[in-house]
Amino acid sequence: MIEATRSLGSTMSAVELHPGVRRPDWSVVTRPAAREALGGRIAARSGLLAKWSTTLGKTEDLVWRSIMDLFPTLGRPPRVEEIASATKMSRDGLLPVLRELQQRDLLVFDEAMGSVTHAYPFTGSKSRHRVRLGERTLNALCAVDALGVGAMYRQDISIESSCHFCNAEIRIATRRNGAALANVFPASAVVWYDAVYSGGCAATSCCPSIAFFCSDDHLRQWLVPRAKPQHGYRLWPDEALEVGRALFGPVLATPNTGPDD
Ligand SMILES: [Zn+2]
Repeated sequence: MIEATRSLGSTMSAVELHPGVRRPDWSVVTRPAAREALGGRIAARSGLLAKWSTTLGKTEDLVWRSIMDLFPTLGRPPRVEEIASATKMSRDGLLPVLRELQQRDLLVFDEAMGSVTHAYPFTGSKSRHRVRLGERTLNALCAVDALGVGAMYRQDISIESSCHFCNAEIRIATRRNGAALANVFPASAVVWYDAVYSGGCAATSCCPSIAFFCSDDHLRQWLVPRAKPQHGYRLWPDEALEVGRALFGPVLATPNTGPDD
């Protein structure tokens, strides 16, 4: 299994998500455990890989980036009218684009509510992982998403979360604009990077199990009674940070050139 994931990781070195930006950014993944986890995850999430295998059009890219700008600015998921205003698009023009982005599992959009409900790494619902970004506190969908926020916005963040087994408090802060960890409390904290992906939606399949644990012991105790063997990876926070940086660092890195000609 390890050999298989390694070879897949090297051949599928990156998938082109939108013009000029490739995801994940393998250049930030230096730790062997992070490399193995990310490669294995890409292999296991073949459904997601298929969604990512074609390049986003300029309009989809513009809308997606606008949503990722609006989410932390507003401190909540943007509504359709707000996205339309930011992108200078009509509501009728926007709806098919939002459906397409949902089809690619880049976000979930509630058409009846007229609002995005979550867009990785953030959710509008209360989650276990609260991320302080500038003046805002946002909810992240999972531990790796929380760790990727700093790299995505090129800002330091602090995370308040809790052990997925005992609910003990876990706090993490970054330095170097999200590229490194400043402190981890408790020092024994670990991350479980779950590889299950189903139903075309990470938020409802793997995200709930990608979590912090206060110690290896509590991760083990959580894993033991699972009905099926869990497919996933145990990472130190600095290894999980590399995975988060690889996934979210490229998203806002390249300026969009504007709507389709
Ligand atoms: Zn615990």
